[in-house]
Amino acid sequence: MTDDTTQLLARAAALDATDPLAEFAERFVPASGVVAYLDGNSLGRPLRATSSRIDAFVRGAWGSRLIRSWDEQWMELPLTLGDRVGAIALGAAAGQTVVADSTTVMLFKLISAAVGLRPGRSEILIEGSNFPTDRFVASGIAAAHGLELRVLAGDPLTGVSAEGVAEAVSERTALVVLSHIDYRSGAVADMPAITAAAHAADALILWDLCHSVGAVPLELDRCGVDFAVGCTYKYLNGGPGSPAFAYVRSDLQGSAEQPIWGWMGAANVFEMREQYEPASGMRRFISGTPPVLGMLPLMDMLDLVEEAGLARIRAKSHSLTALAIEAYDQVLAPLGVTLRTARDPELRGGHVTFGHERFQEITLRLWGDGVLPDYRHPGGIRIGLSPLSTSHAETLRGVLAIRDALV
Ligand SMILES: *Cc1c(COP(=O)(O)O)cnc(C)c1O
Repeated sequence: MTDDTTQLLARAAALDATDPLAEFAERFVPASGVVAYLDGNSLGRPLRATSSRIDAFVRGAWGSRLIRSWDEQWMELPLTLGDRVGAIALGAAAGQTVVADSTTVMLFKLISAAVGLRPGRSEILIEGSNFPTDRFVASGIAAAHGLELRVLAGDPLTGVSAEGVAEAVSERTALVVLSHIDYRSGAVADMPAITAAAHAADALILWDLCHSVGAVPLELDRCGVDFAVGCTYKYLNGGPGSPAFAYVRSDLQGSAEQPIWGWMGAANVFEMREQYEPASGMRRFISGTPPVLGMLPLMDMLDLVEEAGLARIRAKSHSLTALAIEAYDQVLAPLGVTLRTARDPELRGGHVTFGHERFQEITLRLWGDGVLPDYRHPGGIRIGLSPLSTSHAETLRGVLAIRDALV
């Protein structure tokens, strides 16, 4: 073992020893055969509490209350759970968040609704490095509505700037669609300044919060955000395919119209009316029967996030990503690996991306060894460090395993 490695191991151990959130890792189901889980931002780990919650649900609300549970709780669940996501993770007052569909479908609904609120405007503005689904959905809507999809370039490390948005947005812009945290670089966008820049041109803004929610504190109400969407299976540990959430600022809800007119989003659902008339409030953003089973694991993670507090979660995230970068400097940079994430902790989210031409092949080998990062084309290994389930020692094991695979 080199001196570098010995020092790093000692540092990781010391950081874990004083980590106020260290005990939370015990609350997760042990990951058998896993040496380092570095993909908590793609699929969060399940909590032990979730096993009992699902078992109780099968016996109780589903198994015994049966159809009565729709009246007793499930009809309201997309809204009550939405309010809880809003209160704990979004900085959103009640009545503005709903849990339903997938992020992709919610993007379709909200981008369509936003475009409908700005008739006569001719373009949607999006950043070129946004996640494929965001760009694809926006381009499909632009094509269907005869709008131009204008692509904004951001800095590879720090993403889209407020100045860049202010320059690009104009009286032609209906909507700006941005990720708050870039899925590759981890760059954090300046939500207050960029939202204000869009509003200065009377354009609307939609924030994708997939890589933010549960990892960084958010203040949607305070920033005056119009629309937001996000996943619940990343840092909210909702499990594979758990539903998305959508936020619509309260004063826009009466006039915003989403295009998937389903019975569950209609006024007076059980009157089975002849014509669709949207329900009031956030219910109008629902279309079909809500995925109740998929909402259960998320409840446990929300409890945990509330208990830990997002300020402490963000502080641990800073500490984990800083250690990853420190280890990068000592053991990966000398091997020609590049750093594709900002060094300033305020400018990065919960993940760090390294670049090397051999990373695609190396990721496969790492997975075989129980070290689980994510490969992101081209040539990027992304390590997503979910603060409540990941230790400093585990983070370091991951970086050292990448080094070992390269040499
Ligand atoms: C993960 C992710 C998605 C995923 O969308 P799904 O509909 O859940 O598949 C969308 N946008 C961003 C930015 C993401 O990171």
